[in-house]
Amino acid sequence: MSAALQINRLNKSFVTPSGVVHALKDIQLHVRPGEFVTIIGPSGCGKSTLLKIIAGLDIDYDGEVLLDQQPVRKPGIDKGFIFQEHRLFPWLTVERNIAADLPLSRHDTRRKVDDLIEAVRLKGFEKAYPRELSGGMSQRVAIARALLRNPKVLLLDEPFGALDAFTRGHMQEVLLDIWRRNKTMMIFVTHDIDEAVFLGNRVVIMDPRPGTIRGVIPIDLPYPRKKSSGSFQEFRRRVLSEFEKIDEPELVDSYGI
Ligand code: ADP
Ligand code: MG
Repeated sequence: MSAALQINRLNKSFVTPSGVVHALKDIQLHVRPGEFVTIIGPSGCGKSTLLKIIAGLDIDYDGEVLLDQQPVRKPGIDKGFIFQEHRLFPWLTVERNIAADLPLSRHDTRRKVDDLIEAVRLKGFEKAYPRELSGGMSQRVAIARALLRNPKVLLLDEPFGALDAFTRGHMQEVLLDIWRRNKTMMIFVTHDIDEAVFLGNRVVIMDPRPGTIRGVIPIDLPYPRKKSSGSFQEFRRRVLSEFEKIDEPELVDSYGI
């Protein structure tokens, strides 16, 4: 089966007062239907720029981005986007945030919203407002909202970056549960090597200045994975050793190598 997402020879530059920033250089990436891809790399290597282009939020680039063989030209509900901060409507309840403009009085909408609330483990919080929720709960609402429209791909930009380690672990479990049930294609950007290896079928490692793909490491481990297992640690080491090749000591430090 051909890739559901095809990125070919993608180049992206920003013109700024201090010069041209070559944010993405010759990016080549094909993602299979139902695949979970994690992208990891230092700050400024173009991860957010890449996600925005896939989402259709930025169409000013060179190269080709195809979703189900169709060029991506604009944002839409077929491409769900989850930001680091949840962006819920503060004046709407959890269930209204998830349903967005669909009427909850409709039987099929009600059923789908209830199923999603169950899937993101928020039963009992249907009528709560965002201010009453923790960061992790809010992010689960945002994920449910994106999934309601059955997107072809879910794009997640460091979605758990602001959460504490314990909550982050729980969120990873919830997301994997949902993915294993729906098989929605996931493109997940993170700073965290453990997170990248725990979630991804493949880990894409990016380099900065200009943003390029340094390597792609398939994680041939069955789910659910155990972070303490020897085989997990082996894949983690493989990803780490790619980072060690980056010639920037302060960067290597920031990954705790
Ligand atoms: P990451 O998400 O990996 O931290 P970004 O995609 O945000 O990286 O940024 C990649 C590079 O492009 C950086 O050098 C950043 O400064 C630059 N950049 C991103 N957005 C803009 C913009 N709107 N205007 C100018 N430069 C930008
Ligand atoms: Mg970013």
